[in-house]
Amino acid sequence: MGERRHILVIGGGAVGLCTAHYLRATGCDVTIVERGVIGEGASLHNAGLIVPSHFIPLAAPGMVMLGLRWMLRPESPLYVKPRLDPDLLTWLWQFALASTAKRTERAILLLRDMSIASLALYEELASVRGMKFEFRKNGLLMLFRTAHGRVGSLKSAEQAAKIGIEARVLDRNQLHDLEPGLDFKAEGGVYYPGDAHLTPALFVECLREHLIAQGVRFVGSTRVTGFVTRPSGITAVTTTGGTYAADEFVLAGGSWSPMIIRSLRLTIPMQPGKGYSVTVKNSPVRPRIPMLLEEARVAVTPMGDRLRFSGTMELSGLDSSVNMRRVRALLKSIPAYLGGVDPAQLEQGEIWAGLRPCTPDGLPFVGRFRNFDNLIAATGHAMVGISLAPITGKLVAEIVQGRIPSIDLHLLRPDRYR
Ligand SMILES: Cc1cc2nc3c(=O)[nH]c(=O)nc-3n(C[C@H](O)[C@H](O)[C@H](O)COP(=O)(O)OP(=O)(O)OC[C@H]3O[C@@H](n4cnc5c(N)ncnc54)[C@H](O)[C@@H]3O)c2cc1C
Repeated sequence: MGERRHILVIGGGAVGLCTAHYLRATGCDVTIVERGVIGEGASLHNAGLIVPSHFIPLAAPGMVMLGLRWMLRPESPLYVKPRLDPDLLTWLWQFALASTAKRTERAILLLRDMSIASLALYEELASVRGMKFEFRKNGLLMLFRTAHGRVGSLKSAEQAAKIGIEARVLDRNQLHDLEPGLDFKAEGGVYYPGDAHLTPALFVECLREHLIAQGVRFVGSTRVTGFVTRPSGITAVTTTGGTYAADEFVLAGGSWSPMIIRSLRLTIPMQPGKGYSVTVKNSPVRPRIPMLLEEARVAVTPMGDRLRFSGTMELSGLDSSVNMRRVRALLKSIPAYLGGVDPAQLEQGEIWAGLRPCTPDGLPFVGRFRNFDNLIAATGHAMVGISLAPITGKLVAEIVQGRIPSIDLHLLRPDRYR
């Protein structure tokens, strides 16, 4: 028997925690170094959707035109803060190049496979003792209110059927049959019965406790500031709390990942995509099934006795400040889909902003870096980091074990933009 390998995971978000879990399960010693507290990046108060129905990447045909229409309107679902930032301009150009039918088709199949595999892993995780994170497999309801929204939703439903994801088109009466307690204003919807949801803060907390019990070491409030290198590899990370050596290193720093590896002269194109959530207690509206409001791009997720509204995509750099104008625009869009909701009252809920780590082609970076053979990327999951966290962790564990990964990693190579 060889010695146990020691793996250091940089970043304690959903992806870092899941990675630690699957590495530990294969017998590795694992340390997580987290700049702040566990989950404080994007992983605590997001919409909590686990969505095989989200198989279309952000970069898809039609998105560039839609983006151009939306990007300068401060109240639209997508907003790009106008600025002359070379990284942003390069990212936008790469995004446009990735939005072709051919590249999107390849990405769709991969995202489908990853999210289906991840959902199965969530079912396993939810059955582990103590892992009570309000995992529910109630599906997802996509609601539309305009003819244009209807066309988009039905097209997605058709595409879903083609790749084996169940989707049921519903008129307003059928919406009522599915959720009798709700006052639907939407014209209709598409129901994806295979989707699930959870409460992300509970998931992060349960997993943290489980990992501690399994012997994973947490180093919190400690920022990775650099690396100690050897020819074509890394021996240690330097941090605000000293130097930590390991055999392998996993980059799971979410939107901060490009900054973390800059001193290695490695570049991965990524832009933080800011989103907001507003969580209310004792909502008069009590859905059982999470909803996505198609035209407004807003998610509505039941979480225990609370209801969470999330949305917006704002490319404004590493800035997690709350812009109330955009939060109000998000809330204002809801009554057109659902009766009994008062945006002014919702504003009194808990408001949170998180940064989604967005890559230009809508696919994460998972795999070893070519120039540093013991540095593995596990980042860039954009809008589906909760969905894909378990499968990402499992893939990293397979890489460390030297096994053939259960999903082909070719399109996820961290060096694919070099
Ligand atoms: C409004 C909103 C709604 C969303 N809804 C969903 C959803 O329904 N379903 C879904 O699948 N996804 C959703 N997402 C996306 C999801 O939240 C992210 O993709 C996911 O949380 C990313 O996880 P991560 O672990 O990669 O990054 P993070 O959670 O951001 O974790 C990275 C961690 O690295 C730490 N870090 C940074 N720099 C350093 C350093 N130098 N040293 C040490 N640590 C460092 C950070 O503090 C942070 O904790 C949503 C996002 C938002 C904003």
